[in-house]
Amino acid sequence: MTYNVLIIGSGPAGYTAAIYASRANLEPLLIDGPQQGGQLTTTTMVENFPGYPDGVEPFQMMDDLRRQAERFGTRFMSGRVTKLELSQEPLKVPHKVWVEDTELLEAKTIIIATGAAAKYLGIESERTYHGRGVSACATCDGFFYRKKVVAVVGGGDTACEEASYLAGLCEKVYMIVRKPYLRASQIMQDRVLNNPKIEVLFEHNTLCLTGEGKVEGADLVYKKGSAEEEIRHIAISGFFLAIGHKPNTDLFKDYLNLNEEGYILTEGASTKTNIAGVFAAGDCADPTYRQAIVAAGSGCKAALDADKFLKN
Ligand SMILES: Cc1cc2nc3c(=O)[nH]c(=O)nc-3n(C[C@H](O)[C@H](O)[C@H](O)COP(=O)(O)OP(=O)(O)OC[C@H]3O[C@@H](n4cnc5c(N)ncnc54)[C@H](O)[C@@H]3O)c2cc1C
Repeated sequence: MTYNVLIIGSGPAGYTAAIYASRANLEPLLIDGPQQGGQLTTTTMVENFPGYPDGVEPFQMMDDLRRQAERFGTRFMSGRVTKLELSQEPLKVPHKVWVEDTELLEAKTIIIATGAAAKYLGIESERTYHGRGVSACATCDGFFYRKKVVAVVGGGDTACEEASYLAGLCEKVYMIVRKPYLRASQIMQDRVLNNPKIEVLFEHNTLCLTGEGKVEGADLVYKKGSAEEEIRHIAISGFFLAIGHKPNTDLFKDYLNLNEEGYILTEGASTKTNIAGVFAAGDCADPTYRQAIVAAGSGCKAALDADKFLKN
């Protein structure tokens, strides 16, 4: 059989696309991928998704979205898409998608909602304290650290933005920067360097995080490998990674136009990619906002775009 709409990914973008596509009678099939429920399932509480005045546990929220899609007839398949063959005229020759290299599915339209993954330093204690002081999203989790001392790792534009955002909430923000300079644009550098709440620790690397059950401090090494090398300790409650994200788009790079960081490029305000009948929604096409509500909104747009494509 040829599906009208195949949705790749079960995060907020994928589930929202499924709700809209199934309510439009398009009978979509959604492929869960390696992380059912998406990135949000790696955090402990979501307080900024509209409709949950008391906040919501992420597994609950993602289950609510899944059940809503299921109610209107979305079908689900577990597994990961491992290969595809995209068609130039999918209404005549459908797109082909392989799940786990074995199962072949055919579809007139595909909505890609494969998300992105935050980069981590790779130190053991990041895992130990994940969700207990370690976060890769200041916009999401900054509020939990009001009036506390936190650290941001990174020296680019994102790190400067996150540090400035946190400075508006926290008592003090350390920026831990590997290089002797910031890589950010001049305007972002000025904003950080002129903010009395931000202290930039140049030429510092994080060795490990410390604390009883939650982050209470970090051991840093200053000028690693030089004669001036020195171990320093800072007392912090939150440790925010801001060293970039990797969109989950490697699968599509032979077909779709991506930007230099690998995000899928879409046409204007739509979710259309450069291939007919292929749409991209959520973090895989969003280097800027990376929030669940934005991903959900673009999932809605992708389903509407797919519906329009099928009816033309
Ligand atoms: C720690 C943390 C806390 C956060 N907190 C908040 C918050 O409080 N509020 C907020 O609004 N946002 C928060 N975010 C951001 C939010 O999680 C993302 O913006 C949102 O999940 C993006 O949704 P998405 O649907 O685009 O992708 P994702 O949620 O990343 O989902 C991607 C989906 O694609 C699937 N997939 C990937 N590759 C394949 C493949 N090859 N085949 C099939 N499927 C595949 C995965 O299994 C997954 O289901 C947080 C992020 C993190 C990391």
